Amino acid sequence: MPDQTYVPCPHCGHPYPMTPMQKDLYRGRTLACNNCAKMIINAGIKRVIYEGDYPDEFSKELFRDGKIEVLRLVGDRLEVVDLETCSV
Ligand SMILES: [Zn+2]
Repeated sequence: MPDQTYVPCPHCGHPYPMTPMQKDLYRGRTLACNNCAKMIINAGIKRVIYEGDYPDEFSKELFRDGKIEVLRLVGDRLEVVDLETCSV
């Protein structure tokens, strides 16, 4: 594996380049901003796991419309994020 330098997104802190942990999974420190959400969806990633929060309802809408499964890591367990409750 070549070394890569990861530069955090100035909006939400997602590292660049995108680093899918598995083919269909992106794991980030926060829920993506809408720019990163578009890249995640365009990359064909189907599941996103994040810690913390990033208050971008548009990202939730993009993930919902892209049928992305979004999970939040709370302590040592995963909670499914209900994208239907977002306000947009
Ligand atoms: Zn971002």
